[in-house]
Amino acid sequence: MHHAFCPEEFWSQDTLRAVQSTRLQTIIEAAARSPFYGQRFAELGIRPEDIRSVDDIRNLPCTTKDDLRAAYPDKMLTLPVRQMARLHASSGTTGAATVVYYTHNDLAAWADLVARCMHMTGIRADDTFQNIAGYGLFTGGLGFHYGAERLGCLTIPAGAGNSKRQLKLLEDFRVTAVHIIPSYALHLASVMEEMDFDPKRLSLRIALIGAEPHTEAMRRRIEAFFGVRAYNSYGLSEMNGPGVAFECPEQNGMHLWEDAYIAEIIDPTTGDPVPEGQMGELVLTTLTREGMPLVRYRTRDLTRFLPGHCPCGRTHRRIDRISGRSDDMIILKGVNIYPMQVESVLMDIPEVGQNYLIVLEREGFLDQMRVKVEVKDEFFVEDMRALKALQQRIAAKLRDEILITPRVDLVESNSLPKSEGKAVRVQDLRPKQ
Ligand code: AMP
Ligand code: ZN
Repeated sequence: MHHAFCPEEFWSQDTLRAVQSTRLQTIIEAAARSPFYGQRFAELGIRPEDIRSVDDIRNLPCTTKDDLRAAYPDKMLTLPVRQMARLHASSGTTGAATVVYYTHNDLAAWADLVARCMHMTGIRADDTFQNIAGYGLFTGGLGFHYGAERLGCLTIPAGAGNSKRQLKLLEDFRVTAVHIIPSYALHLASVMEEMDFDPKRLSLRIALIGAEPHTEAMRRRIEAFFGVRAYNSYGLSEMNGPGVAFECPEQNGMHLWEDAYIAEIIDPTTGDPVPEGQMGELVLTTLTREGMPLVRYRTRDLTRFLPGHCPCGRTHRRIDRISGRSDDMIILKGVNIYPMQVESVLMDIPEVGQNYLIVLEREGFLDQMRVKVEVKDEFFVEDMRALKALQQRIAAKLRDEILITPRVDLVESNSLPKSEGKAVRVQDLRPKQ
């Protein structure tokens, strides 16, 4: 039998739907007590008692990032502020930060969810866990911290940055599991290459990677370099933070915990549900959060439900790797391009180093894409002709994927700007209309 952290992981789909229906009623009653939803439901003539089952969810309005801003700082709370225990904020990569509050119960439920995810990947109480993530308003710090403690791991709150100190902690305390943002994992790899630090000096076996879009090619690189199994971790502060959906040992899609969230996938332009298995925008409803429930939150993250059952036996539906956000699509010369398409090409080319940057520029009336690519040191020393050939090869492979030919700049490893938190993959230098 499967070794589960909690029985919920193996509840049948029927049980999950029944639980969702009950919890949805409770959460809508609670939401109606908040100033924001109270007013919105009244305007739309929605009475909490009309919501009887999960199928009624389509009668409820969606909540957007703009709604969260309008409700700033506390109009979505269902209880007085003094009953709240903590607040976090989103990293604000797009627009102003939004704030989320948690009661003590909410914090405990969140820690349980994160512990469930970690346990699913094979992390146990006797693992030593280093949390390489910003501690502060970002949920990846405290979120994983309390999850790991809940699981019983020796937990090292390393925080973000300072690669040399990260390496010392990893080696001296024989750390076996880490949580790390994928772009930072590759940055750490390039620092280790520079220092001639043999990854075999580390005892790592599991890496939890997430918080930003990344490709399968990126995962494979991290696994190969550190000699670990890397598991995709999806979450967002509006839904607590990490612990929303997570990969199991199959590494084929992320189980989205349906006892804690209702997930829908919609067409971002029409708002209608997409046919089963098709790509669309993920919309999430919290089912257990008492302090600040969110109803049909439009994440802007693009994914799809994976069809079929997972061989691991867990019943919660799986979502595909996030392919991007509905607002990070690049439109260039009439062609739609996602940064992850560029990444998947680059990370499969062995000469390419650990970082890249997409720059959008305008020349005259024409938009151009320039891709700056770090090249591994051992190839950068080669003669001009070899480098020129590499440049052309990269441009051709990119053209096959994105249908336009970008300019390719080859640069030395570790020379592109590295952000402390989530990677910034696109720099748009085009003049604003
Ligand atoms: P924040 O609330 O500031 O931590 O940002 C949450 C956002 O980060 C999500 O809405 C996604 O756009 C992104 N994100 C988080 N985890 C992943 C992941 N595993 N893959 C892709 N994007 C992710
Ligand atoms: Zn599974």
